[in-house]
Parts: sequence; C-alpha cells; structure tokens
Amino acid sequence: MTHLPARRLLLVHAHPDDESINNGATMAKYAAEGAQVTLVTCTRGEEGEVIPPSLAHLAPDREDQLGPYRVGELAAAMKELGVTDHRFLGGSGRYRDSGMMGAEQNRRPGAFWSADVDEAAAHLVEVVRQVRPQVLVTYDPHGGYGHPDHIQAHRVAMRAFDLAAERAYRRDLGAPHEIAKVYWNRVPRAYAEEGFARLRDAGVFAKSAAPEDVPGLTADETLITAEIDGAAYAGRKTAAMRAHATQIAVEGGFFALSNDLGQPVLTTEHYQLARGGSGAPAGERERDLFAGVAA
Ligand SMILES: [Zn+2]
Repeated sequence: MTHLPARRLLLVHAHPDDESINNGATMAKYAAEGAQVTLVTCTRGEEGEVIPPSLAHLAPDREDQLGPYRVGELAAAMKELGVTDHRFLGGSGRYRDSGMMGAEQNRRPGAFWSADVDEAAAHLVEVVRQVRPQVLVTYDPHGGYGHPDHIQAHRVAMRAFDLAAERAYRRDLGAPHEIAKVYWNRVPRAYAEEGFARLRDAGVFAKSAAPEDVPGLTADETLITAEIDGAAYAGRKTAAMRAHATQIAVEGGFFALSNDLGQPVLTTEHYQLARGGSGAPAGERERDLFAGVAA
C-alpha cells in the first residue's frame, strides 16, 4: 500500500456546491493541516437552476450541459479549499441528479434516487478501502432537508461504511477497512438564527430565507456533538461557494441560491457523531473530528 497521510477525512455529498456550503471551512482547515481530504460527489447536479442569465442555455430543458459545467465549478471550488482529491461516485456522470422530491426526473434512468443502494455503495467501498479514512462526514437520514439525492447519499454512505468493514465483502475492492467515526451535518437553530439576524442588519438581499431552509437544522442541541470553528477559513469557504456561480450568489458573508433568498454563510460547522468514537463528555462538544482517533 502507498503511504497515506496520518489523518484522513472522507466526505460524501449529493451535488457540487453542497460540500462548500456545509463543510467548506472544515475541508479547508484539515487540508491546510496536512490531512488527506477526499470528497465524493454522487451526481453532477444536472437538474440545478442556473442563476447567471448568460449561462441559462446550460439548463436541462435547453442544452442539458449543466452537469459538465458544474464539474469545472467543483474543481475551482476545491482549489479554493486546497482539496486535491475529489471524485464522482462511480465516475463522472455515472449517476444523475434526481431533481426535487416528486419530480418526474426521480424515476429517470440513471437518476441517483432510483439507483440500487448496494450497487452505488460498492463504488464508495472501493474509495473507502483505498483512502482508508478514519472519519466520514455525510447527511442525516433526512438528507438535511429532504432532497432525494441527499437522502440517497446518506443511505449509500452508511451502507458503504458497513460494507467496507465486512471481511467477506468484495475483496476485489480492496482490504477491509473500518471507519472509526461517522458524523452527520447539523446546524443548531440558535446559531442559524444569529446568522439571519446579521443578514437582516446588513440588508444585502431584498428577501431572506428562513432558518427552516438551512439543511440539517435542529433545535435539539443535544444532537450536536462536535463543532469546528472555521473563522480562519471563512474567506476560503466563501471563495469556494463563489466558484459555484451557476448555483450560488455570494455577497460578503451572505449568499443566495437560485430562489434569491438571502442566507448567512455559516463559518462554524456543526456535527452529530452518528457511529463510533466516544464523543465529548456530556454538555461539551468535540473541537476536532479526529479526536480520540489513532493515526
Ligand atoms: Zn444538493
């Protein structure tokens, strides 16, 4: 086996841009500290809405070239975060964006939502057994906010977590590997509300989204077991989000998706320990996702 950095973090996301919005500061921090940061994105985000009018021709109901374009945006975002290892699940274009829940695209051939979970997980097992991460980050079972590709990304990530460790499973995909800790993305409601208050004071977007629109939002602070203070990486996170220009409009410390509703860029990133680890003592939070992990 080739030499691996001591600390290895794997993130599994649904579309290009999700990684920067949810984990941009965390990814930049660990990359800067010399950890191996690997991003697996499950689809190319073909069904996204296009913000810049000059790029409207890429849309799925026109040229349907948004997916390949977003591959370039993702690469630019990863440059901003200092992340060199980013891949698409099963290869670029293997799974297609399924659109919003209930859309007819959900059942389109190749749509990630209609993919067989075990088959999709096998692609991820191959990455896990190669990269051998101690820490996996993905969404909660609701996918943070109910988008079918986010729910499916959760299912595939959790299935791959189990299968990668199984001794008898697909030895052709590499030697078994047990990931020490799995975290789900979370945002504490009180922290999101502070951000929306700042947005109101700044008055940069005409209309504001609601805290309920923030993926992973929870009012239950006991679910949140780890937080990464990304203040030092706020600039990198914001730059990475700006690189996803078809999807995100950034104004200072705020942004809007294609609905043009303002949201705060959240630079402290919060997590729920879902598997493994012993977590922080009651009432405290871990400040390092690798806490307690042997190299
Ligand atoms: Zn997404």
